Amino acid sequence: MINSDVIRFIIVGHVDHGKSTLIGRLLYETNSLPEDKIEEIKKTSKELGRDTEFAYLLDHLEEERTQGITIDTTQVFFKTQQRGYVIIDAPGHVEFVKNMITGASQAEAGVLIVDVKEGLKEQTRRHSFFLSLLGIKQIIVVLNKMDLVDYSKERFEEVKKELESFFDSLGLIPLSYIPISAYRGDNISKKSDKLNWFEGPAFLESLDALKCRESKEKEPLILPIQDVYKIQDKRIAVGKIEAGRLRVADLVRILPSGLKTKILSIEKFKERPQEAVAGESIGFTLKNDVFIERGSVVCSPFNGPSFTDNFSAIIFWFSKDEFSKEKRLQIRCATQKTTCKVERIRERIDSSTLNVIEEDAEVLKNLEVARVDIKTKKPLALKNFSEVEELGRFVLTEEGNICAGGIITSV
Ligand code: GDP
Repeated sequence: MINSDVIRFIIVGHVDHGKSTLIGRLLYETNSLPEDKIEEIKKTSKELGRDTEFAYLLDHLEEERTQGITIDTTQVFFKTQQRGYVIIDAPGHVEFVKNMITGASQAEAGVLIVDVKEGLKEQTRRHSFFLSLLGIKQIIVVLNKMDLVDYSKERFEEVKKELESFFDSLGLIPLSYIPISAYRGDNISKKSDKLNWFEGPAFLESLDALKCRESKEKEPLILPIQDVYKIQDKRIAVGKIEAGRLRVADLVRILPSGLKTKILSIEKFKERPQEAVAGESIGFTLKNDVFIERGSVVCSPFNGPSFTDNFSAIIFWFSKDEFSKEKRLQIRCATQKTTCKVERIRERIDSSTLNVIEEDAEVLKNLEVARVDIKTKKPLALKNFSEVEELGRFVLTEEGNICAGGIITSV
């Protein structure tokens, strides 16, 4: 287990279903807010003739952010007695998917918020689909605004049933479905009397039950190279170990050359450890002067990633310009880069309804998803996303602009 003291999760849901209110409520109930901030929100709420309105809190934070003050609303922190949490709050689903696919933000769990009165909406479906696409397996569903349906068990069960069959179609089983009122504070940090028919946990209890990401230390080594520095007469390669471990004197294989050599030293700030493991960013030197550069991948000599120029993937096209098969694109996967062609669009998918619009398509429009076959100019070290995320996710760029993100489904 790594990061056992902090869990990163993302809250998604249809607009107005209560995401900001829930985040505000979580900060309030975990005492993560300065006193003056709470007073400010109470005052604003009162002026507007409402009860304490936690959604304003995020507006306040957003304001501070745009004024360049302190808080970044895309990363909200709070703590329970168990551990710390980071909420990754993406302003919209395009940003969210972009960040997740490009690796800018990684979440270990997803919270889907659904207005119990309204039920499933377009973005509920779209966001859940992306959670499944991005391999987020720990999902908590909160049915919000229970106060608006008189805390009705029947309505809760009705929407829950609808959601269950939807998640079933995505091959996902959420950990729990929890009735809450983010606005009134029911079932957030403790069980609410108004929901005494509900036998499951309060929302914070279900967060505390989440598991941390499994460590990849025991897997075969994968270390994409970010840079190589020449310091005095040493060539120090640096990168983050994505899987496995690296020890001094280990035999390793360097892609793309395929040459094998041994590790001479591991270098960390003011340290020269004998060993480093998955998750660590390190520098190291090689015994022989084997060529290594940004984009090389150091791996186990016996059990490396696939080294190939073709693979199948799911891509999310988020450029205003239509995609057509003639386009020459650049692909970036970890630190590797080359040109590529989408050879076949097997299925073109509407990302809100998830319906297949067309098979064997020629074009893709903004915000569409597709199952594709890609051919790259040079072979790359790749893995299925479900195995090693960093070598299984990529972005496609056109003239330097990111136009799509994707994950490898079969390599
Ligand atoms: P977001 O777009 O998902 O961030 O939604 P907001 O948090 O801004 O909430 C949208 C509206 O729903 C606001 O007016 C909230 O006060 C209201 N709201 C959020 N949660 C609840 C709830 O539990 N009960 C009630 N009655 N209203 C809520």
